[in-house]
Amino acid sequence: MRWRWLIGSFVEPEHREGLDRDTRKAIEAEATEALDQSGALWKWGVFGLAVPALLLIKFALPPALNILGYQGSSWAYAIGIAIVCGLVWVASAIVFGFLYRQPVRRAMRPRGVRVCVECGYDLTAHADTERCPECGATAQVG
Ligand SMILES: [Zn+2]
Repeated sequence: MRWRWLIGSFVEPEHREGLDRDTRKAIEAEATEALDQSGALWKWGVFGLAVPALLLIKFALPPALNILGYQGSSWAYAIGIAIVCGLVWVASAIVFGFLYRQPVRRAMRPRGVRVCVECGYDLTAHADTERCPECGATAQVG
């Protein structure tokens, strides 16, 4: 996991150089659009994160607070929910970090950053027809 994922920044650090802020924003917006059109954002957002978070708050939080000795005080409950939300935040950063990897790489290519969509290897020094020297992907090269 990369800490930048926590703030929704998914352009890999090794590719950030040479891309200004507006270009990075445009790349991430294009990736979001691609994920939105495929339905992946909705699916992962709801079924991957929101539902588990609500189930966790509903069924796991009260017994956890009881075990920790918080007996029905509302501030303890609020802290418990904040901790669950923090965990969901980190989990969502990891889920969306991996989800955004390939769409971000794909969106970088028209902007002059030649990377393998599969593995993120920098293809600047390689001709268009070559396989990715790192993972062997061909369809993604170009
Ligand atoms: Zn590759």
